Amino acid sequence: MSNQEIKVTLSTSKKEKPKSDQLPFGKYFSDHMFIMDYKPELGWYDPRIVPYGPIELDPAASILHYGQTIFEGMKAYVDKDGGARIFRPEMNVKRLNRSNDRMCIPQVDEDIVLEAVKKIVSIDQDWIPNAPGTALYIRPYVFATEANINVVPSKEYKLMIILSPVGAYFKEGLNPVKIAVEDKYVRAVPGGTGEAKTGGNYAGSFRVQENVAKKGFSQVLWLDGAEHKYIEEVGASNVFFKISGEVVTPALTGSILHGVTRDSVIKLLKHWGVPVTERRISIEELYAASLEGQLEEAFSSGTAAVISPIGQLTWKDKDLVINDNKIGELTQKVYDTLTGIQYGTEEDVFNWVTEIK
Ligand SMILES: *Cc1c(COP(=O)(O)O)cnc(C)c1O
Repeated sequence: MSNQEIKVTLSTSKKEKPKSDQLPFGKYFSDHMFIMDYKPELGWYDPRIVPYGPIELDPAASILHYGQTIFEGMKAYVDKDGGARIFRPEMNVKRLNRSNDRMCIPQVDEDIVLEAVKKIVSIDQDWIPNAPGTALYIRPYVFATEANINVVPSKEYKLMIILSPVGAYFKEGLNPVKIAVEDKYVRAVPGGTGEAKTGGNYAGSFRVQENVAKKGFSQVLWLDGAEHKYIEEVGASNVFFKISGEVVTPALTGSILHGVTRDSVIKLLKHWGVPVTERRISIEELYAASLEGQLEEAFSSGTAAVISPIGQLTWKDKDLVINDNKIGELTQKVYDTLTGIQYGTEEDVFNWVTEIK
């Protein structure tokens, strides 16, 4: 436990909640938000939960100019008895500090952030939607607030947490999606910021995402930034392939996000005795496997996208159709088990869930 008390100011009015079965991703926000500030002489100070609303920012605030910021994403779920649960939040809080370090933002006391996550979810518990596949998305983020347009790290920051009731990330739901393999633009390069959850990585991908969306693809598969050869990620998700009975996923080589869902999938597969390997996988290898009928399943993994089956990969003029464009058996099992643990219908063998009182 941290020694800083989180001050709570409850909202006097309650917003109308959206219908649980018609939720878009990330459009609605709950009644409260968490804020904490940083100044060199005070460190992180004044942790507080206040009514959700606009914040004041100096026009010279360094986030607006140089993008010194990071974010996290996790989910709270409601179980069949109405209890709230959060999936592996300690992993997200650790990663928040890793991203902070890469972006030259001061480290935060992980216990305070964890406590803040639990407290705000507990206060806005009635915002956790209960239709199948829905959850309360938890978005912690840190950004530079010092009024200074010199190109130097900010001396002042805010850490905030907002909550958004969300439905499915892809309109396709559990139906396999079509993915375009991008061979011109890249998301991250060796030595760059790909491993950090920092705004610019995502802003830089929008042009490409729009280009492929116009051609009917729901996401981009990114190749490595040095050779445009090795598979890295799919959109803002990690990716898995089942080739001749073995599951492979790109190794964490520095430009790939350390996904909490990725880690959970690997642990589940190992627990089941399914061979799983983290290594480099080239797009040529995948194409060759597909031609020989060995590319059996493919799916992406992430907090937002959960487990999303891939039905087709298009690389240059070649279409790799996977499992007849149907969800694979193992993909379905991973999805069922992972969501079962998250929603409390499956035994939490790894002790991944934090229950909220
Ligand atoms: C957040 C994110 C992921 C998925 O990470 P999870 O912890 O599983 O949600 C994967 N890739 C990128 C680029 C991301 O931003």
